[in-house]
Amino acid sequence: MRYCKKCVIPDTRPGIQIRADGICSACVGHGEKERFIDWDKRRAVFEAIVDEVKRLNKGYDCIVPVSGGKDSTYQVIKCLDYALRVLAVTWKTPARTEVGQYNLDNLVKLGVDHIDYTINPDVERRFMYKTLVKSGDTAIPMHMALYAIPLRLAVALGIPLVIWGESPHLEYGGTEAERNIDTLDLAWFKTHDILQGTSVKDWTDEDLTGKDLAAYRLPGDQEFKTAGIRSLFLGYYFRWDPEENLAISKNHGFRVRAEGPKTGYYDYADIDCDFISIHHYFKWLKFGFTRLFDNLSVEIRNGRMSRKEALKIITERGDQTPYEDIKKLCQFLQISEGHFWQIAESFRNRNIWSQENGRWVIKGFIITDWEWS
Ligand SMILES: [Zn+2]
Repeated sequence: MRYCKKCVIPDTRPGIQIRADGICSACVGHGEKERFIDWDKRRAVFEAIVDEVKRLNKGYDCIVPVSGGKDSTYQVIKCLDYALRVLAVTWKTPARTEVGQYNLDNLVKLGVDHIDYTINPDVERRFMYKTLVKSGDTAIPMHMALYAIPLRLAVALGIPLVIWGESPHLEYGGTEAERNIDTLDLAWFKTHDILQGTSVKDWTDEDLTGKDLAAYRLPGDQEFKTAGIRSLFLGYYFRWDPEENLAISKNHGFRVRAEGPKTGYYDYADIDCDFISIHHYFKWLKFGFTRLFDNLSVEIRNGRMSRKEALKIITERGDQTPYEDIKKLCQFLQISEGHFWQIAESFRNRNIWSQENGRWVIKGFIITDWEWS
């Protein structure tokens, strides 16, 4: 494994390229963000889009997909600052947390209409199980739903604009061309591994039919174009810093997780759904890094932490296996924990992991005195 010299991201992370000088594409992207991007110019472009949308004078100016996290709150505040009429849309996770519900209620009270879209739990259960077994990821249905539902509603209701949060390629690593993408459309999904290159039709059979999975279906290219929907990353137009977004959201009633971080480093991220930690956990087995690596790399890039401090925190917190959440997931999926671990083990990447004295270890791991369990 090769790690970025500046942050702690390994080259096994999907979408990351480490250059010959040892710096990863996310760090390069961050440098560009600080030095080359003309944020005033981008803001002006955004403002022109806002004016255009308002002139159309539709019932709603825009859809903001929201989960109840700090970014959702920030997106809504930003749209309200521009006096956009917002329809907030949520895919309702079957594992919504108390603080997640609180933050969602708070966000609606800021002054938006809201659809909390619930999918038949039996369909969701069978779909999640299937993606867990086949792809080692229970979050594929979640990601499909949370992208598809707002986009389909925009098409169906003729709402001209959809405003997403950060551009993942810009914040977490992508090629130069990918970092400059402002639009989340079908072409974008082809550049990102979030759905592991699959769409609804790859998951249908006699057990889960296309009709069962209707809620997860993205609008087609043609539908999208005919409807004239713009689907944009707010993080392309405004400099994205999780800490700044948090401060703004907190000023508007957003609450962090009182018990501390759920997974990773932040007490304010990944806190609205109890299953997201399991999605992150599989990165450990597949790619040899955890959510902490992602979060702390962002902290390093923003100059709030040294690489040495990050490594110390990773050592202290360990691999953050989310045992409690796994228990909940097994109840939801109606499977035993033994069965879950059997499936999980089948996704341990043997190119990274090897057996040493009866324990699984990662050769060349970033922390040399790591306690392998
Ligand atoms: Zn880096």
